[in-house]
Amino acid sequence: MTVTITDVHARRVWDSRGRPTVETEVYTRNGSGRAIAPAGASTGSQEALDRRDGGRRIGGMDVAGAVSAVNEIIAPALRGVPVGDQARVDELLLELDPSPRKTALGGNATIATSMAVAWAAAQSAGEPLWAHLASDRPVTIPLPQIQIVGGGAHAAGALDIQDVLVVPHGATSFAQAIEWVAEIYLAFGSARRASGARSNGVADEGGFWPDFTTNEAAIVAVVRAIDRAGLSTSQIGVALDVAATEFETAPGRYELALENRTLSRDGLLDLLAGWVRDYPIVSIEDPVSEHDADGMIAFTARVGSGVQVVGDDFLVTNAERVHRAAASGACSALLVKPNQAGTLTQAWDAARTARELGMATIVSARSGESEDVTISHLAVGWNSRQIKVGSITRGERTAKWNELIRIEESLGADADFAGSASPQFPLHR
Ligand code: PGA
Ligand code: ZN
Repeated sequence: MTVTITDVHARRVWDSRGRPTVETEVYTRNGSGRAIAPAGASTGSQEALDRRDGGRRIGGMDVAGAVSAVNEIIAPALRGVPVGDQARVDELLLELDPSPRKTALGGNATIATSMAVAWAAAQSAGEPLWAHLASDRPVTIPLPQIQIVGGGAHAAGALDIQDVLVVPHGATSFAQAIEWVAEIYLAFGSARRASGARSNGVADEGGFWPDFTTNEAAIVAVVRAIDRAGLSTSQIGVALDVAATEFETAPGRYELALENRTLSRDGLLDLLAGWVRDYPIVSIEDPVSEHDADGMIAFTARVGSGVQVVGDDFLVTNAERVHRAAASGACSALLVKPNQAGTLTQAWDAARTARELGMATIVSARSGESEDVTISHLAVGWNSRQIKVGSITRGERTAKWNELIRIEESLGADADFAGSASPQFPLHR
């Protein structure tokens, strides 16, 4: 007998920045599923709306409107719908709110519900979520991009670029990849303390709070930490999330506040291309602002073989934008953030489109997160091959890594880790 949704209930819970967020619970006669919406800080202007109440309470960030959208509008529409028909569920959400950015219901209301339905479907089928999503398709344990230094909007602008990350591609398993990064994180911390760095605090995604006088110094420090950890840059690459929209002060003008200088778009691209030449960089995200397709095309043409150019704010997990980017050569990888799309089906459409058009895919968390581990399962079940969750500290980050360790263990000898000794970036093997 087809298992249907018997009830849907949302409540307000809290995220890793101490802000309210939406949790949805979905019930069937033989199970239930639960998911929590994440939230960005450096959000793309075209992503699904993170609906907040405004006003004075909790800085205007409360989510009573989004919670009641689930309880009053979505719940009645989903009762009786087959829980395993994710496409139908997400289609119903789109019918309830056809606006491109989900401004009527709120993208936080729809993504929490869409993900909770997937968990309930998996539980009703007696399968782990990743297996339910994969169906009969092959799966891979994803190669992680792990933040060592956090900057940009996640560290009050103490660094202009947003993330300096490491990519442990030479590891033979996910478990080993995390161990290597733990060694690098430790080595980085002891080197900073030895140099008399003032701050040992953490940025929003758990990486070291930056204490540098130039952006490049952060990259140098991470490369040195790889070496101090006894590892080699032939085993571990460096990735950057430039998140350039955040420091574009006028069209084509980029202000590096830390270095007290302003660059043109070409000046910024020269700087980044110089870093690609001088450091073991394998991946660069949002190298120019989300509005600058020509800049993305120019940068991808310049560095695009051997380095993946990732669209986050530029693509906002949107299949149509992925099509356009692939046709014009504007980037070579898609950052997949389910809450940018607002439903799992739309995020999957963007990811599937990217893979079909030869782009790599990186499933990604947001800077505001929770104990929710849905994205770990998406990365495996959708065979994305890469995942980005922030650093290896703080529970909302370790929740995702630890879940992947469990999934890898459960697969035993069948586990296929996406890293390799000589990977080709963009990574879409
Ligand atoms: P956000 O940052 O969640 O604050 O948008 C993550 C990213 O830019 O990749
Ligand atoms: Zn980004």
